[in-house]
Amino acid sequence: MVRRGALEVAQRILIAVMVAIALSIAYMILHALWASEPRPARSTPVPATLTPTRIPTATRVLPSPTPTRPPKRVGLVAGHWGYDSGAVCPDGLTEVEINLAVAQLVKALLEDRGYAVDLLEEFDAALDGYLADVLVSIHADSCDVPRASGFKVASVLYSAMPEEEDRLVKCLREEYQAATGLSFHEHSITYDMREYHAFYEIAPQTPAAIIETGFMAADRQILVNQQDKVAEGIANGIICFLETDSH
Ligand SMILES: [Zn+2]
Repeated sequence: MVRRGALEVAQRILIAVMVAIALSIAYMILHALWASEPRPARSTPVPATLTPTRIPTATRVLPSPTPTRPPKRVGLVAGHWGYDSGAVCPDGLTEVEINLAVAQLVKALLEDRGYAVDLLEEFDAALDGYLADVLVSIHADSCDVPRASGFKVASVLYSAMPEEEDRLVKCLREEYQAATGLSFHEHSITYDMREYHAFYEIAPQTPAAIIETGFMAADRQILVNQQDKVAEGIANGIICFLETDSH
């Protein structure tokens, strides 16, 4: 009895051990299978810039084949206008009346060619930081030197863009000479012209020049009676500069 009972117990223990081993093996196999399955990839946030954005074709805005540029802008200072008379001749002819009449004619000529033109006073508030494709200040020389004749053109003494402003001076000089027949009065360009106040008020990227259109004594005939030629010379000089520029 005892021996048989002991044998039965041993058999049961053996069966229990075998079942336990079988279960362990089954568990290990299942675990191994689960581990070999592809894991879901960890989601890495993609930078927004790398995310391709699909734009529906219908809403895509195509660039215009011929973009329309705004008109080029020209500033004209009618010398002394709104401030004083400028030079005065013994008979009362004033520089400001010549400057203003010429500036108005230049404005009309340029507007006819499609430019936007601002006619400015000598100390116009708009000069402060004035931004344009070009600024030209129009003056005339005094009656004080009866035999002096000719015109002058100058840009600022220390230019931030010497090539541009030299080209502006060259254009004005050549076109003004061609239109009026006056000679260039090179050696009397004064420090005052090159240190002209408006040069220091306008935006630094606005090319600028000042022109003395002639002497009010010797060149009076053209300054008073042929202002269309005076204006044409200035307008052509400005157009020469604007239409041969590099930008
Ligand atoms: Zn003046």
